Order: sequence, then structure tokens, then C-alpha cells
Amino acid sequence: MSNEKKARFKGKVVLVTGGTRGIGRAIAEAFFNEGASVAINGRTEGSVNSTIREFPNFTPAVGDVGKVSGCKDAVTSVLKKFGKLDVLINNAGIFEKHSIEQTTEEIWDSVMNANVRSVQFCIKYAVEALRESKGSIVNIASESGLNGYPFTSAYCASKGAVVNLTRSLAMELAPDIRVNALCPGVVETDMTRAGFAVNGDEAEGIRLQHDAYPLKRIGTLEEAAAATLFLASEEAGFINGVALPMEGGATVGKW
Ligand code: NAD
Repeated sequence: MSNEKKARFKGKVVLVTGGTRGIGRAIAEAFFNEGASVAINGRTEGSVNSTIREFPNFTPAVGDVGKVSGCKDAVTSVLKKFGKLDVLINNAGIFEKHSIEQTTEEIWDSVMNANVRSVQFCIKYAVEALRESKGSIVNIASESGLNGYPFTSAYCASKGAVVNLTRSLAMELAPDIRVNALCPGVVETDMTRAGFAVNGDEAEGIRLQHDAYPLKRIGTLEEAAAATLFLASEEAGFINGVALPMEGGATVGKW
């Protein structure tokens, strides 16, 4: 095998929503390492700038993508800076764990806004530029968009919506733009450390998650980034509208 470093995205402009930390940040770094100019979106100037202080090669794309105006702001700032967009990664999202009785209208709306509205409207504002560049979109859905899990009905509904929104737009935007979704299982991030903590014990919560997978481990940030870059790359040029599970086989049967 060649030791040559891959540079599949040389000259390409990439926007990663929710790119300040976690999976989004890993994806942003991976695109940069393969030659792309990368804009990272975050809700506030403060969050984006603190990541850019650590990683000055990123360009800021500030906006609360849970709001339509924030989607427009984030996409517009990238187009202003680079004049084009080749890849949109809709990664921003939030996780909420509640019973149906505990799920208020406010919780439902915040999950749907951050996880679904963001995807729909970032695509809406990016679509003209992506048509011009014959670009590609990857939506970070979840294993929870393919399987039902208890006490997370709003989250599961939101990720199921992302999966089918992906299929719909894969049809609508072809042949110019490919649209795919990645459905990761658990990867250790701030979201999962907090979301799966057992009586406040984050390490124990993550440890238990390892046992819940057929491969007896959770996914890594590097694996999530690698799968995302693959879907966005020319190597996946004939892949359109898929919801690619990246969950060690957790959604294919009982074990
Ligand atoms: P995280 O909480 O570490 O990071 C999420 C990022 O999205 C944060 O930077 C957050 O500020 C940002 N964000 C949230 N709402 C936003 C908004 N309205 N506007 C702008 N930015 C916003 O979470 P993560 O684990 O890195 O998750 C990233 C994505 O991957 C999410 O969509 C999540 O649902 C999905 N996912 C994560 C896992 C996992 O195990 N970590 C598994 C499956 C899917």
C-alpha cells in the first residue's frame, strides 16, 4: 500500500455545522488534513473563536442553525469568504433523554430545531452553490434514526427524520448533488459522556456502552470522520441517498 498522504479534498471548500467540538471537530480536522478549506459553524462567536484559537486554519461560520436565520448566516459567511461551497456536513445536533411524560413541548422543539430544521435549512441556503460545484452533502444522523431506543423518542424521531429527508433530497437534487447520511452508534464526546452518565458517573456510562455493541466497543472519532469523508468523496460517486450505519453491526439484528 502506498504511504502517500491522501488529499481528496484539495481546493474544496467544506462547511461543518457544529464543528467546534466532538464529531464535527474531528470531521473538520480530517477534511483540513486532506487539503480542504474548512469553515466551522457554532452557535456563538465565542464557541467558534475558542476552537479557532486552537486550530487557526479553520474559518468561522457563526450561526444558531436551530434557527432558519442562523442557517442562512452560517452558509452566507462561507460563500462570502470563499465564493463557493463543495461539501456541506450537517453535523450540529443535541441529545435529550426523557420519558414520553417528561418530554415537554420545549424539549421537543429544541431537539427538532437543532437536529432537523438545521439540516433542511442549511441545505436550502447552500443548494445553489452546491449545484454549481456539483457538490456533496453528508447529514450526521444516528443509529437512533434506524432503531428505536426507549426514553429518547424526540431524539429518535429527529434522526429518523434526517434519514428520510436525506433520501428525499437525494432524489430531488440528483444529478447535481449527492446527499447521504451517516448513522453512527455511540462515539465518546461531550454529548455521550453527559447523556449516558450513570448517577453522574460519566466513565461508567461510557464503559456500559462498550458492552452494548456486538463488537464490544463503541466507535471512535476517527472512524466517524473517515466514514463521513468517504461519503463526501468521489470514491463514493455512485452512492446517493444511503443512511450508512457505523455502529459495529448494532442495527442489523439482536445479539
Ligand atoms: P457534541 O455535543 O460534542 O457536539 C455537537 C456540536 O453541535 C456542538 O459543538 C454544539 O454546540 C453544536 N450545536 C448543537 N446545536 C447547535 C445549533 N443550534 N447551532 C450550532 N451548533 C449547534 O456532540 P457529538 O457527539 O459530537 O454529536 C455530533 C452529531 O453526531 C450530532 O448530530 C449527534 O446527534 C450525532 N451523533 C452522535 C453520536 C455520538 O455517539 N456522539 C452518535 C450518533 C449521532
